Amino acid sequence: MNINLAIDRLRELLGEEKVLTAPEDLYVYGYDSSIVYTGRPWAVIRATSTDDVVHVLKVADEYSIPIIPRGGGSSLTGSSVPVNGGIVLDLRSMNKIKVYVDDGVVEAEAGATVDEVDRECRKYGFMFPIDPASAEVATIGGTIANDGGGMRGARYGTMRHALLAVEVVLPGGKVLQLGSPVYKQALGYELAQLIAGSEGTLGVITRGWFKIVPLPERLGRILAFFNDVEDAAKAIFMIRRRGLNPLILEFLDDITLQAVESVYKLGLPQAAAAVLADVDGPHESIERLINTFRNIFEEFRAFKVEVALTPEEMNRIYMARKAAYPALSKLYPVVIIGDICVPISKLPQMVKAIKSIASKYDVPIAAVGHAGDGNLHTFTGLNTASGDEWDRGCKANDEISLIALELGGSVSAEHGIGIQKKYLLEKEIKYRGSEYALEIMRQIKRIFDPKGILNPGKLFD
Ligand SMILES: Cc1cc2nc3c(=O)[nH]c(=O)nc-3n(C[C@H](O)[C@H](O)[C@H](O)COP(=O)(O)OP(=O)(O)OC[C@H]3O[C@@H](n4cnc5c(N)ncnc54)[C@H](O)[C@@H]3O)c2cc1C
Repeated sequence: MNINLAIDRLRELLGEEKVLTAPEDLYVYGYDSSIVYTGRPWAVIRATSTDDVVHVLKVADEYSIPIIPRGGGSSLTGSSVPVNGGIVLDLRSMNKIKVYVDDGVVEAEAGATVDEVDRECRKYGFMFPIDPASAEVATIGGTIANDGGGMRGARYGTMRHALLAVEVVLPGGKVLQLGSPVYKQALGYELAQLIAGSEGTLGVITRGWFKIVPLPERLGRILAFFNDVEDAAKAIFMIRRRGLNPLILEFLDDITLQAVESVYKLGLPQAAAAVLADVDGPHESIERLINTFRNIFEEFRAFKVEVALTPEEMNRIYMARKAAYPALSKLYPVVIIGDICVPISKLPQMVKAIKSIASKYDVPIAAVGHAGDGNLHTFTGLNTASGDEWDRGCKANDEISLIALELGGSVSAEHGIGIQKKYLLEKEIKYRGSEYALEIMRQIKRIFDPKGILNPGKLFD
C-alpha cells in the first residue's frame, strides 16, 4: 500500500479540488453522529459523478486502500467512521433527482438528502415514503446502506421496501445496475436488496430508484399524554390490533418529554409517556378517525389529548418527537443509543422492562421511537464513556437487547450495525441457532470485496 502514490494518482484523475488532505478536513471526517467512535482518514474525496467513484475504486483496488463511503455522516453506530484510516468517499455532491410521476417512481443520486427527494416528490402531489427524523442530512446512499426507516415505518417499512433498483460501483470499478425501476420483478437472487443494509461493505451506491406514494388528501395529528408508561404502549398496541393504519405512531417516555420541554419549551405537560399519531385520508374521514383514536387513548387513561389540524399546530406537536434526539443529546455528554424492535403485542412488556433495567443499573434511560412498528430507541444518558458509569450503561443496554430477543424481537431495527452493534449482530444470530448465517454473510463479503477494502471493521470483523 502506498497512500502517497494513490493520492497523487487520484489528483491526476479527479483534479486537485476533489481530493482533500488538509488536517482540518481530515478531522471533521473522523466522526459520525455516534460521537463515541472516532478515526482519521488519510484523505477525503468529494465525488461528483459515477465516473469519479469508478476511478476511486480502481485506484483503491490497485493500492489496496480502504474506502469508507459517506453521505451525511448521521449514522449513530460508528458505521461511517474511518477507524482504520483509509480514504473517505463523500458522495454528497451527487444529488440529482428526477421524478417519473406517470410511473410512480423517483430516481435519486446517492448524495441527495431524503428531505430533498421528498420535497421534489411533493411538487407532483407525491411523497417519499421513508422519513428518518434525520431526513435533512441523511442521504439516499447512506439511508439505503443503513436500511433506514422513520416515522412512517409502520405503514411503509424501511428503505428496502421502497427500493426498486440501485446502481453500485464494486471494488475494482465495475458498475452494476441491480433491479429495474418497476414495481415487480423476479430475476433470481435479489441483489439490490442485498445492498440495502450492507453499510458500505459491498459496493458504493451511486443512485437508486424508489416507489413514491400519493400525498394524503388531509392530515390530522394527535398527541396523547399518559400517567403510566404501559398504558401508552397498550394504546399503541390496540390501535394496530383494531386494524387502524395511522401514517405515524410514535412513543415518547417521561425522560424524553422532559428533555424536549427543557430545551424547546413547547408547553408539554409532565407525563409518564406520550403517543403521537398522524391520521390521513379524505377530508370527511379525518374527524371520525381522530375520534376513534381519542377514544382508544381515553380507554387507556390518557389524561390529556391534543388535536392539531392546522400546519402551525401540527408543527408544534411534531417537534415533541422530532426534537427528541437533539434534546436528549444536549442533556447528556455521552449517550448509548439502542434500536430494538419487538412484536407489537410485546410493547407494553418491553417499555416496562426498560424502566426496571434503568433502576437496576441506576442510569437514566429514555425510550422513544416509531413504536407503531414495534421499534423503540433507548438513550442511556451518561457523563463519561469510561469507568463504572459507562460499564453500567453498557450492561443496561445489553440487557435491553436480550429482553428484546426473548420477546421474539431484534437488537437492530433501522440504525444498522456499524461498530457499536457488531457483538449484538452475532448474539442475535447465535440466539436463533443460525451461526452458519454469519459464515454466509462473510462469504458474500468476500465475493463482492475480495481484498476487504470497503468500510473495513464494520458489520463484522
Ligand atoms: C438526529 C438523528 C435522527 C435520526 N433518526 C433516524 C430515524 O428516524 N430513522 C433511521 O433509520 N435513522 C435515523 N438516524 C440515523 C441516521 O440518520 C440514518 O442511519 C441515515 O440513514 C444515515 O444516512 P447518512 O447519509 O447520514 O449516512 P452516513 O452516516 O454517511 O453513512 C451510513 C452508512 O452508510 C454507508 N454509506 C453512506 N453512503 C453510501 C453510499 N453512497 N454507498 C454505500 N455506502 C454508503 C457508510 O459507509 C456507513 O456505513 C438518525 C440520526 C440522527 C443523528
